Amino acid sequence: MSARSERDEIAVVGAGLAGCLLACYLARRGYPVALYERRPDPRTGTVERGRSINLALSERGLDALRRIGLEDEVMADALPMRGRMIHPVEGGEPEFQSYSGSGDRAINSISRGTLNNALLDAAAALPNVRVAFDHRLVGLDPLGGEMTFETPQGKVTATASVVLGADGAGSAVRGQLLAYGGLTESLDFLDYGYKELTIPPLGGEFALDPGALHIWPRGTSMMIALPNPDRSFTCTLFWPTHGTRSFASLSSPAAIEQFFATHYPDLVPLAPNLVDDYQHNPVGVLGTVRCTPWQVAGKVGLIGDAAHAIVPFYGQGANCAFEDVVELDRCLDECDDEWAAALPLFQHRRQDNAEAIARMALANFVEMRDKVASPVFRTRKQVEHALERALPGRYVSQYELVSFSTTPYAQVRRRVRAQYAVVGAVAAGAVALLAGGVRAALGRRR
Ligand code: FAD
Repeated sequence: MSARSERDEIAVVGAGLAGCLLACYLARRGYPVALYERRPDPRTGTVERGRSINLALSERGLDALRRIGLEDEVMADALPMRGRMIHPVEGGEPEFQSYSGSGDRAINSISRGTLNNALLDAAAALPNVRVAFDHRLVGLDPLGGEMTFETPQGKVTATASVVLGADGAGSAVRGQLLAYGGLTESLDFLDYGYKELTIPPLGGEFALDPGALHIWPRGTSMMIALPNPDRSFTCTLFWPTHGTRSFASLSSPAAIEQFFATHYPDLVPLAPNLVDDYQHNPVGVLGTVRCTPWQVAGKVGLIGDAAHAIVPFYGQGANCAFEDVVELDRCLDECDDEWAAALPLFQHRRQDNAEAIARMALANFVEMRDKVASPVFRTRKQVEHALERALPGRYVSQYELVSFSTTPYAQVRRRVRAQYAVVGAVAAGAVALLAGGVRAALGRRR
């Protein structure tokens, strides 16, 4: 595609995961791209305490990276996790549950900061991408494409032919469209928050198996831990924010120690800074963002968390945001780069899918905190894996379809419902046959 004129500059607001990848994709299409980020350059600063966030990167995200040759570079910093390791409350050996029927498929633990920096490097290295740090969007004229930013030097303005909001769950671009009257939104916050804790290396080695995502399912609270390349683990504790058993209810060192000794006994000897981490790391909020439309007049669009933030329990927020970028690129192809057609088409293709993963993520929270340790869940997983092996490609579990395929999320929900209906009918038939056999045998005995 030929180089475009200055008039065609596209503004991407937010140099997070979606924004940086989007800048790479748009630059490859030949657009000059201005990438505006409210923070200073994250590659030169330090991460805010308790906000490191480890992501599980899976097939959808990898597919988006692969398409522009970034997969190998990113995966060099990732650690594969082939299943969940369930830590029982009564202590004893944790139990490994494979994610796939074949046992060899993995999701990948990577720090959000490392991933963001790799994508920022890739975007900034492109000649037609310019990155403006310390630019916080505070104003937007959606039809004229004029943006106002707060910078350390004061307010500045800039104009672009198209403005794309990749500025996360609390999107300022979405806020501007809301104020303009261009969209409606709903924010559903969970009454749960999250806090990060750390398990450092033990004698220079991983203190837990690095090949698994560790889960401590405890009903009202839940903790997970993902491995880091420096052999530490980042733990995330999910717990109600308020109430008698909540983050708000626990503050003294003795109470914190008591809580972990009771509910997470095997963590205590592995986390020497537990009390300090707990007292000083912030509590993050969790919620689902929905809005519509995702674009105004073909001039301003939303992408990633800005359009559809979800709770993190399926490990899909970033994967979904990356998939958005691939879909927008496809829509631009199909619409000959007519943004007024491409942006509505993008929303049409993605909105149902975003809603489907939002629902699956909420449902997975219940599964992770309550069900994974139960014998019923274990048996269900074993049956599912057996079916997957017996009927390869014909029976595929929801987890596999979400994490190890690029089947559209909405299609995953439909397919899984259909599979359950068939398995349910077969099971009911088998039970009926068995009951008939038992009745006949009993009849012969009389
Ligand atoms: P963000 O990554 O939030 O980026 C937004 C960017 O915009 C930031 O750089 C921000 O500084 C910038 N910005 C904000 N406002 C402005 C402004 N006014 N002007 C300019 N710039 C601005 N996803 C997964 O796929 N797998 C996981 O395992 C996973 N685990 C998670 C665990 C937790 C605890 C949390 C909270 C999230 C998790 N996620 C996970 C979700 C994932 O982090 C998000 O979905 C992903 O970061 C969204 O990318 P984004 O680029 O849309 O938004």
